[in-house]
Amino acid sequence: MNKYEGLTASEGSAVGPIHIIHSHSPDLDRANISDDQIHIEVARYISAAQEYELELQTLLKKLRGTASEIIQAQALILQDEQIKEEIVSQIKKEQHSAAIAVHHTYSKYIERLRDSASNMFKQRIIDLVTIRERLVEWVIGESSKKQVPIGSIVVAKELSPTDVVSLVDSNIKGIILEKGGLTAHAAIVAQSLEIPCLVQVGRFLDYHTLDGVGIIDGAEGLFITNPDEPTIQQYQYIIEVAKKKRQRIKPSTSPGQTKDGNRVSLHANIEFIQELDLATKIRAEGIGLVRTEALLYGGITHKSEKEQDVYYRRLLEDSTGPVVIRLFDVGGDKIHVLTPNESNPFLGWRGIRMLLDEHDMLHSQLRSILKCAGDYPSRIKILAPMVTNVDEISSLKEEVEKVQNELARYGHPIDNNIPIGIMVEVPAVAIMADAFAKEADFFSIGTNDLTQYTLAVDRTNDQVGGLFQHDHPAIWLLIRDIVTAAKTHGIEVSVCGELASDLLGVSGLIGLGLRELSMKPSSFLKVKGWIREFEMSTFEAFANDACTARDRNEVYKAFRKHFHTA
Ligand code: PEP
Ligand code: MG
Repeated sequence: MNKYEGLTASEGSAVGPIHIIHSHSPDLDRANISDDQIHIEVARYISAAQEYELELQTLLKKLRGTASEIIQAQALILQDEQIKEEIVSQIKKEQHSAAIAVHHTYSKYIERLRDSASNMFKQRIIDLVTIRERLVEWVIGESSKKQVPIGSIVVAKELSPTDVVSLVDSNIKGIILEKGGLTAHAAIVAQSLEIPCLVQVGRFLDYHTLDGVGIIDGAEGLFITNPDEPTIQQYQYIIEVAKKKRQRIKPSTSPGQTKDGNRVSLHANIEFIQELDLATKIRAEGIGLVRTEALLYGGITHKSEKEQDVYYRRLLEDSTGPVVIRLFDVGGDKIHVLTPNESNPFLGWRGIRMLLDEHDMLHSQLRSILKCAGDYPSRIKILAPMVTNVDEISSLKEEVEKVQNELARYGHPIDNNIPIGIMVEVPAVAIMADAFAKEADFFSIGTNDLTQYTLAVDRTNDQVGGLFQHDHPAIWLLIRDIVTAAKTHGIEVSVCGELASDLLGVSGLIGLGLRELSMKPSSFLKVKGWIREFEMSTFEAFANDACTARDRNEVYKAFRKHFHTA
């Protein structure tokens, strides 16, 4: 039995036969074609492109959300008239075979993207490479040989988002990638399709030993090969239990409150529209964070206003309670739409900094949100990411007012009291929380970035992963001050970072006075059950100890003491 460590890019466990996808380009015959072959090769290209397009359209019918957007983007590239003309002209004028003409033409565009300074363009390279390889396969008639056995665990160096989506047909159980990052497009697609996926397994992977059954353990970030029978059975049991648990999720009508009846309002974090189903099922009291960056995946530029209108309306229609829409938090580890190459993107042109420079982008998002807010009064709140200076709030409020005036001129209903709040995720804001509480309408504490910036630990760097401690005493002290400032100035404060998804975190947050938490839907029922088990005084005693602890170990010790956990 071999165990390989990786990073869990999409949660869950899987057992299945290993299927390796080798990325090799077929050897192409580079000889020039004769005059009478020209029309045959042109026809061969046209019919290959049609068959490939048909394949994408069939795939599209099975997909929704991000996965569907990625395939749509690829279908558009495939239909590009300029590229089509160049391929046909190469066959006719240069007397290249259809396969060579396809390869040359797409390679030229790939090189152009490689030379581009824009990260956003560079991210499209993988799409063009996929189209080039698949189209060549269709042209030379090799496309059908790529079938993946049903129920496999696919192992590859790298996969494009289209590859992942195309594997849906084979009902694959999981994906192991040698390379790739947690925020790689392929990983995002795997998450949206709920396929367990580990990335960066490459350093250790020995292809010679890869055979038979493989196991993905998403909880531990492990890929197990050559497992013995008891291990296979153990994981099959774990998978079965997890499946049953998912099916058993029942709407719970009991309110979020401590054992002694103190109310804690529980909300859900959403990125994809598809997650709204689960948020409704678990009876989230509202959507505490909409990460709108999902609107930017798959598109070369930001979504058109019309598409944004549809997205926000769906959000409002398919949920109940308040909906906190965060403005595009582009940059850092998020999608790079406009960001130049920055040596330190987390300290760079990110969130509100970019939005206040890019008025077109900001105004189109605001227009779309504010139109929706007018139609659903008192339900939407706007949240600004990565705020560092107080004047960023007043500048944003000015822009909101401008857009509202413009909409009012066109006779659109306006929600004049739409709250404009800020993410508290930069230590400067936490330290000066008083000043910010006078300007912002509400606070939402982003413990992921607050931890990264306070402890000087890159949240995406595995090397220092152990130092990323969102339950460090320094974080508890900052949160305590943020809550005090919010209460002093009478504004609402909630937490939407990962700290609100774990039991220790939730315990400290409630003990520090937080009465609103927003978390990933999958943690919701676990958190609610926990809160209902203990009295407020227990949470408060723990929070007090967490704030006076000298390190995280002491925080853990206090947690065990107060909650009698092992
Ligand atoms: C955070 O930083 O805690 C947060 C919720 O935002 P994101 O993880 O999207 O940066
Ligand atoms: Mg953040």
